[in-house]
Amino acid sequence: MAAPAKKPHLVFFPFPAQGHITPAFQLATLLHRRHGFDVTFVHTEHNRRRLLRARGPGALADPAPGFRFAAVPDGLPPASDDDEDAAQDMAALHFALPTVATRFKRLVLSDDELPAAASCCLVSDVDPILRAAEEIGMPRVTFWITSASSFMAMQQCRHLVAKGLVPLKDAEQLRNGYLDSTVVDGLPGLPKGMRLRDFPSFIRTTDPEDAVVALTLNTMECHRTIPSAVIFHTFDELESHAITAMSDILPPIYAVGPLPLLLRHATTAGDPAPAADTSAARSSLSREDRACLDWLDGKRPNSVVFASFGSIVKLSGEQLAELAWGLAGSGHEFLWVIRTDNQQAAALPPEFMAETAGRGFVTSWCPQEAVLRHVAVGAFLTHCGWNSMLESLCAGVPMLCWPFAADQQTNSRMACTEWRVGVEVGEDPTREEVAAAIREVMGGGERGQELRRAAAEWKEKAALAARPGGSSWVNLERVVNEVFAPLM
Ligand code: UDP
Repeated sequence: MAAPAKKPHLVFFPFPAQGHITPAFQLATLLHRRHGFDVTFVHTEHNRRRLLRARGPGALADPAPGFRFAAVPDGLPPASDDDEDAAQDMAALHFALPTVATRFKRLVLSDDELPAAASCCLVSDVDPILRAAEEIGMPRVTFWITSASSFMAMQQCRHLVAKGLVPLKDAEQLRNGYLDSTVVDGLPGLPKGMRLRDFPSFIRTTDPEDAVVALTLNTMECHRTIPSAVIFHTFDELESHAITAMSDILPPIYAVGPLPLLLRHATTAGDPAPAADTSAARSSLSREDRACLDWLDGKRPNSVVFASFGSIVKLSGEQLAELAWGLAGSGHEFLWVIRTDNQQAAALPPEFMAETAGRGFVTSWCPQEAVLRHVAVGAFLTHCGWNSMLESLCAGVPMLCWPFAADQQTNSRMACTEWRVGVEVGEDPTREEVAAAIREVMGGGERGQELRRAAAEWKEKAALAARPGGSSWVNLERVVNEVFAPLM
């Protein structure tokens, strides 16, 4: 498709955590490669140092003419040399954002390689950055990197507050089954039977002044009023209810996922390699261990359970032990990512290592998308981060859902009861529950077969949405024509 003759320069500024950087980098790559936009991709200094450490000096070399990197100071301490900060301190990050926003404005106004603010367009999910762009007259769109359903669930939090369900009356409600037994029906865009447990985890507060609830409500308001459009990393067929309901309350919205699949179709005349080959690796803040792919090569199809909890979640020592013994007790082979910043890793029982020797592979960071696509992987034990779930859907791999925080509860609900590609492991499962769930999903019984069938169907639907003429492909063209082109 021909790109508009004059185009705004796109300035990407994702929230500075792995799960935001990866899809933002994928979208930036796609708009650059397929539609010919010039792009400046902004990292924070902390992440710039991590990228350099993980991938060497080439990490931030301009990938192609018209695509460049920039960085703004964030005041966070330097990344350590031994890759021990794969996870990020979310509180510190949020605290740093107002300073980052000031530095961002300075960058846009003083960077000689950027055109005037009015000739750029910011693509971001960070509200202080979106507000900063508004202050300097820079056009802006939101790129929301988690599910439309969880966005809707966050939007609906104000109704939970209005109904008196949030904040909770007392901490006892967290323990006595209240979250499971309280069902909230009739909220637009959300499925029937949503339990309080299925809403984003920050509603589990007893504090009427809870800062995270206030921040979320504020964030929701920002994305409703500050950007001229909201781009979602999902696809119409997957989340039609939430997307339709959101159309009533948000600026124009566009579903353009799954980006890893769209990237496979994005080649340029001078460089016919699919952009997907490079995009995930280029945005990884941690060093990838590719030896696990060799290990998988020696395994039978659908024989390995892959367990990974994203870039932020930390398991407690107890959770780690239950998971370890659950994996061991399932009788299946497994590939398990334990990040080095999860200090509890040291607490892995030696008997567990002895018992599972040869049957398990433990690593600190893997090329996850490639792992999920590997024919040997039969199930994914996941924390339900949205990128992980989309990557699993794209690969047709059924999921075991163990949500921890934020949007993960809603994503888990959708996977288990709406898309029917996952089973709930719960939020604090015992080793017996972990082992039983693995056997159910990996097994040849009716439930296992049902899950594999549904996963294969969603894989097909995701591929259709992403290919030329598919819903996401067309929606991305609409973003170019309806959102970016009118800016010039
Ligand atoms: N990831 C990876 N290697 C790993 C673990 C995770 O490449 O060993 C990637 C994963 O593919 C996904 C991202 O890290 O793209 C995690 O994002 P997600 O939204 O799933 O979770 P978050 O880290 O935001 O909680």
